[in-house]
Amino acid sequence: MTGLVQGVGFRPFVYRLASKFNLTGWVQNTNENVQIRLSGTKPEIENFLKSLETEAPSAAKIEKVILEDLQPEQFPTFSIRKSDDVSDHITEISPDIAVCQECLDDMADDGNRRNYAFVNCTNCGPRFTIIRDLPYDRDKTTMQDFPMCAACRQEYENISDRRFHAQPAACAACGPQYELYLKENRIIEPMNRIVDLVAKCITDGGILLIKGLGGMHLACDAFSDIAVEKLRSVKRRDGKPFAVMFRDVDTLKQYATVSAQEEQSLLSWRRPIVLLKKNDHDIQPTLSKGISSGLNLLGVMLPYLPFHHLLFQQIKPSAIVLTSGNFSNEPILIDNQEALSQFTDHVDALVLHNRDIFNRTDDSVVRIIEGKERLMRRSRGYVPSPIRTKLDTDGILAFGAELTNCFCIGKGQNVIFSQHIGDLQGLATTVFYEETIAQFLRLFRVKPSLLAVDMHPEYISTKTALTFCDIPVVQVQHHHAHIAACMTENHLDEQVIGVALDGTGYGDDGNIWGSEFFLCDLNTYTRITHFEYVPMPGGDLAAEEPWRMAVSFLYKAYGRSFTNLKLPFLQEIEPEKTETLIRMIDRKINCPLTSGTGRLFDAVASLLGLCQVASFQAEGPMRLESLIQKYSGDIYNFDTGETIGFDTTIRGIIDDLIAGVEITMIATKFHNTINTAIFDTVNTIRKQSGKNKVILSGGVFQNKYILEKTSMLLRKNNFEVYTHSAVPSNDGGIALGQLAVASKRRENKCV
Ligand code: ZN
Ligand code: ZN
Ligand code: FE
Repeated sequence: MTGLVQGVGFRPFVYRLASKFNLTGWVQNTNENVQIRLSGTKPEIENFLKSLETEAPSAAKIEKVILEDLQPEQFPTFSIRKSDDVSDHITEISPDIAVCQECLDDMADDGNRRNYAFVNCTNCGPRFTIIRDLPYDRDKTTMQDFPMCAACRQEYENISDRRFHAQPAACAACGPQYELYLKENRIIEPMNRIVDLVAKCITDGGILLIKGLGGMHLACDAFSDIAVEKLRSVKRRDGKPFAVMFRDVDTLKQYATVSAQEEQSLLSWRRPIVLLKKNDHDIQPTLSKGISSGLNLLGVMLPYLPFHHLLFQQIKPSAIVLTSGNFSNEPILIDNQEALSQFTDHVDALVLHNRDIFNRTDDSVVRIIEGKERLMRRSRGYVPSPIRTKLDTDGILAFGAELTNCFCIGKGQNVIFSQHIGDLQGLATTVFYEETIAQFLRLFRVKPSLLAVDMHPEYISTKTALTFCDIPVVQVQHHHAHIAACMTENHLDEQVIGVALDGTGYGDDGNIWGSEFFLCDLNTYTRITHFEYVPMPGGDLAAEEPWRMAVSFLYKAYGRSFTNLKLPFLQEIEPEKTETLIRMIDRKINCPLTSGTGRLFDAVASLLGLCQVASFQAEGPMRLESLIQKYSGDIYNFDTGETIGFDTTIRGIIDDLIAGVEITMIATKFHNTINTAIFDTVNTIRKQSGKNKVILSGGVFQNKYILEKTSMLLRKNNFEVYTHSAVPSNDGGIALGQLAVASKRRENKCV
């Protein structure tokens, strides 16, 4: 049996099932699978197999079952055989699992020893975040500091107990404890007093730092504008949306629309943050506007730790903001001392505990598009489950991109992805990156023999790779890596049409790419066409200040005369600033050329008055997408030729703005224009090449309207469309593509 069948309570489950059906034999973990030997009657074995599929522990995922008839053998009982688990091949580590209902029932029962805030069992609880080394045993986790009491040990050793071999199992007598810091006061027990005080603090509009599973969270009442504003200033983060944790799914449904698939993701044991559409009507009390202002999306999750459940029993608000506990651009905090020294003066209380976090892990973020779960950030609950490929990935270490970094390592045909690392810009994140690479290589017993990096010479990730001496390096073009990532998760290894739309990536010609139409395979690519280049006045600054791109596009579409246009947007900008930009463009001073789709979206967002200076990455494009209310078929014209140009589109938008057309309509028409431009281009490439498989990748395809409508249009015209689901379409998925390209080049003896 292969799949996620180790570290999730699978063997005890098999044991109990075998006993139930009077079967004898054994179960054993081996290098790459779980083996079961069964002796019994045929109907009993068939019943066993049926129950195996339907009753397996919630976090287990059986991918393949191979059945074999063997020579009959007599076994006295059914047993769990010791695993020969010191070999280098044991790689499967379970992600962290949200607390299960049975444990919550234990916790709610006053008479139960497990009325305890760190309750867990064989089927639930911390995993990856506490694992220091393999094999997965308590003394190789951060639970090592907590020797089991006699009662816990007895359960741990009792095969019919729910906590048989539950490595993190503990009780109030022997396990970790929460501690509350209220200014000078440190309060350790009783737990219900801590929860009461925390609840009071939140109800009174206070800000808290709470230690969780993979890191700390900052929390406050989600209905209080004052508290949310205060939290924003503590975090030193201007506009980036906050995630909200709701008491339960029914409360949540009053604030956001929840489809069946969205509900499934919300309630899954992985408990990701799910991006949902806010409800149009206001309901009392209203969520603070400061949570995600200007966006129609809300990042939402449900309680996943016993502590969250305890808290919601006591607090009045039915939702709290729960955002990563760190200052902007730093990794999520895990260390108690750092938390105390950095946050004591900024928050009203700190809720810490004495179980160490070994693997720092943020909350994951998903969005359901076309009925499928799409990862925006792959972290807690997903990492480190491997991604299966058909490539020989062994020994390849792929370093990822610069922003939203994840790296990955290859082992056999499996790819093990790191948790979300973040933007490799601050020192703290870079240290986290380097440490995690070292940890992964050690934990998963990989000795790298081939490195894969982005072509960008200045990326921290590229530079980090150079510190690994004497190992060959494969450089992979950013957008080729996007397409290769999507191909790999879809098990494609042939020539395809690749469409990679994003903000920024280093191009072969030294320009900034970001709208690539490739004919490519895993090994190489031909860039068939792209969006027309436009100057990016100020370089990187233009990505942070969308108004600069608006000026650039206007100047290109109208020449100088755009300054005479009666546009509210232009009145917001001092004329001298516009003049400076024009001069920079004319003289080609600090004006790199870009074909990045993100910059076009930025420009349009600026023209519509949505965002002149971005307070977080992709703010303009996100606000633009949020304007779309319903489907409309209207589009703007665009220019075709050797490249795809948008001068006509920009003029169409300006005409509409001057004519007083609603900006919601303009945003929709603009999105339709992009969808049609993609479709027309891909169609032309099909005519020339005969290729029918289209890969859609890059951050732009996190946009639901773009992904849904483009795929629909393509499928209606008999294209086979492939999109991301296992790794993000943003730069967080790029490492998979780098690794696939390196694997292919090695296979072709090109390295
Ligand atoms: Zn449990
Ligand atoms: Zn105990
Ligand atoms: Fe990208």
